[in-house]
Amino acid sequence: MKTIDRFQKKMTAALSMLFGSAARDADHRRLARYIISLNQKESPEEIINELASCLKNILNYRLFGFAVKKDETTDAWIDPQMYKHSLEEVIRKDFHLENRFQINYLNHRLDPDESVGKKFSMENLTTYTLGSEDYQAKVYMLAADRAMDRHGDMVQMILQSTQAALSKQISIERLTDAAIIDPLTGCYNRRELENQLKKNMAHAARHNNDLSVFMFDLDHFKDINDRYGHPAGDRVLMEVASTVRANIRQGDILARYGGEEFIAILPETDRQKAKELAERLREKISRLEIQSGDRTISVTASFGVVRMRPDSTMDRLIADADIMLYKAKKNGRNTIMPGLIKVCPPKASGIKESSFV
Ligand code: GH3
Ligand code: MG
Ligand code: MG
Repeated sequence: MKTIDRFQKKMTAALSMLFGSAARDADHRRLARYIISLNQKESPEEIINELASCLKNILNYRLFGFAVKKDETTDAWIDPQMYKHSLEEVIRKDFHLENRFQINYLNHRLDPDESVGKKFSMENLTTYTLGSEDYQAKVYMLAADRAMDRHGDMVQMILQSTQAALSKQISIERLTDAAIIDPLTGCYNRRELENQLKKNMAHAARHNNDLSVFMFDLDHFKDINDRYGHPAGDRVLMEVASTVRANIRQGDILARYGGEEFIAILPETDRQKAKELAERLREKISRLEIQSGDRTISVTASFGVVRMRPDSTMDRLIADADIMLYKAKKNGRNTIMPGLIKVCPPKASGIKESSFV
């Protein structure tokens, strides 16, 4: 804390020199505080929130927008919500976006008598471009009257600090991702699966919660590679992974365990629910139509489902899922094991029939 105080004093002195004697000490202290706090933030979201609150404080803006594009993904933040549609259009044009992108709201909740369709005059909109080789970003602002004239230099310095802080955080995220994410499928890699499984098993044991796991493996995947080529095989892996990811809950974890083998961790899920999910995913995968040039590839997968027991270890749980998966392969593939029990509608005699599928 002392180091920060000293740093803040030094920065205040430096800023006084920079802006000349007419500038007020209080402003410099404020600026130094903002710059330090921007640098201490640990994620792009936190940095953008902090930037908005600095600018609100200095300029009392009427509109703040921030859009950032990295790795072909664009995210935007806006305050207040009522300008959403108009700003969305501007961002879409600036970033050449055709598809939908995520818009997040800062601070402001929509008042019941406010409409989200409120327009602003483009003439009054001030924009700043930030970025590095890793990302492109733009800040949009409608400042209160003349606030910009008085505080232009301060805003410039805050934006420079934002740019530096964002570059640092995005590089850190890149390094972290590289260590835990499988680059082909975007799933967690095997090492991270083990970390996540340990963590989730300990949590489930402590809280006496259910936890289930399923392992799945693509059927006759070697034939797909042989018939369509390795790059097409890669496409199949990517599409299967994204189909599964899109159909599991947010707290569920999907990892690539090996070549064409995946494991999902399902916290707070009993085995029946896990089997139902596996069955739904099995069906979705079997219905995929994956384009490879002018050919369409179909694929199926086999699933092994297990639940955590009080005496389960991580290795045992994975081994049990593997045994179930092996049984599913033996059972003719494109199936889950243990199978779902299907209760058929009662027959005229009133006797219920159950059967494994
Ligand atoms: P089974 O139904 O018994 O699982 O048969 P299979 O052909 O899927 O199993 P096998 O283990 O014989 O073959 C797996 C194939 O997966 C062989 C390997 O080349 C391929 N594979 C593993 N990783 C990748 C990858 O990253 N990309 C591609 N395209 N293929 C991969
Ligand atoms: Mg296979
Ligand atoms: Mg395999």
